[in-house]
Amino acid sequence: MKKKCIVIGGGFAGLSSAAFLSSIGYIVQLLEASPKLGGRAYSFLDNKTNTVLDNGQHILMGCYKETLNFLKLIGAEKNLLFQDKLEINFIKENYQLVPLKSIPLFYPLNLLFGMLLFKAVSFANRLKLLKVFLKLPFYSTKRLSRMTVYDWLVKEKQDEQVMEAFWKILAIGALNTNIKNASAKMFVDILKEIFLNGNFAAKIILPKYGLSKTYCEPAKSFIEQNGGNINLSSQVTELVINDTKIEKVVTTEKVYDDFDYVISAIPHFALEKIFADGSIIDNPELSYSSILNIHIGLRENPLTKNFYGLIGSPVHWIFNKGTHLNLVISDADDLIKKDDE
Ligand SMILES: Cc1cc2nc3c(=O)[nH]c(=O)nc-3n(C[C@H](O)[C@H](O)[C@H](O)COP(=O)(O)OP(=O)(O)OC[C@H]3O[C@@H](n4cnc5c(N)ncnc54)[C@H](O)[C@@H]3O)c2cc1C
Repeated sequence: MKKKCIVIGGGFAGLSSAAFLSSIGYIVQLLEASPKLGGRAYSFLDNKTNTVLDNGQHILMGCYKETLNFLKLIGAEKNLLFQDKLEINFIKENYQLVPLKSIPLFYPLNLLFGMLLFKAVSFANRLKLLKVFLKLPFYSTKRLSRMTVYDWLVKEKQDEQVMEAFWKILAIGALNTNIKNASAKMFVDILKEIFLNGNFAAKIILPKYGLSKTYCEPAKSFIEQNGGNINLSSQVTELVINDTKIEKVVTTEKVYDDFDYVISAIPHFALEKIFADGSIIDNPELSYSSILNIHIGLRENPLTKNFYGLIGSPVHWIFNKGTHLNLVISDADDLIKKDDE
């Protein structure tokens, strides 16, 4: 007898759980509150310009092992653009283009020597940068857990120039948090995943199409072809629990009581709404920071690279989408709070 599983939430996490479970014989019922799949990573048609826009640019990296397994499973790997080797082009204040790229040597020398050629910072600073990367495997997680990224960089003698031209852009991009608030442990863990796991882990991967076409549509087809069912506009409002077992899943549409497992693939703030009395989960003290994406339509496009990192600019990244540019500002709470003027 096949086991039945309810998956709550149709973002990346819910779709990947549903796809994996349906591929190994579970009967999956996915419940998504909104009328579309994708959660915080989706695309939509902008009627004014007749252009498909992502809600926000998403990059993946080779080290996203499970995400890539999911995309491969649903046949969406072909919708991704893989870099041949790590290459990030930075633009300095004077519009000078400064590449940071892996050079033709064996891993990890290709990355380490690539860093030595990163001309956005002085040679002395490149050596200091290199020193941090050489120490990367040996950092103690325990000590870092008490530090911010900024404290850690100061301790590693990284000066203002290298913070501005390298660390801030990387850390804000990875953590969406100002380096004076962001956790050094989390950042170093991410650096280890990216830089200590071979060439592929450090490659940047971009979706070729809008996010919905890139992974939501293939995931939906895959789940349905494997006997799963997806209900949109179906918000879970209550979980009826007896002792430690979920007996009913109540949605705005219907009550489900015939299942073996329930997977919650919704963010903690959405889960808190289901357990509004606070009885089931401890509310950790978490705060959020925003990412602002600005889409600029183009008549002509003079840019040749897929994306650029900006040094010393309030805009952190520019993604070149051919018909338009996507400007990304991470940790954008201050801007979001400003009035529209
Ligand atoms: C603008 C932007 C840019 C980003 N860029 C990157 C990037 O470059 N690289 C990267 O790795 N990450 C990036 N992220 C983060 C990434 O998008 C998220 O980590 C990821 O999409 C989260 O997926 P999820 O499935 O965990 O949650 P979500 O995407 O939030 O999905 C949860 C789903 O559950 C549904 N739901 C909520 N409550 C209920 C309920 N009660 N009943 C039923 N359904 C419910 C929601 O409608 C939603 O569809 C970015 C995020 C944003 C917003």
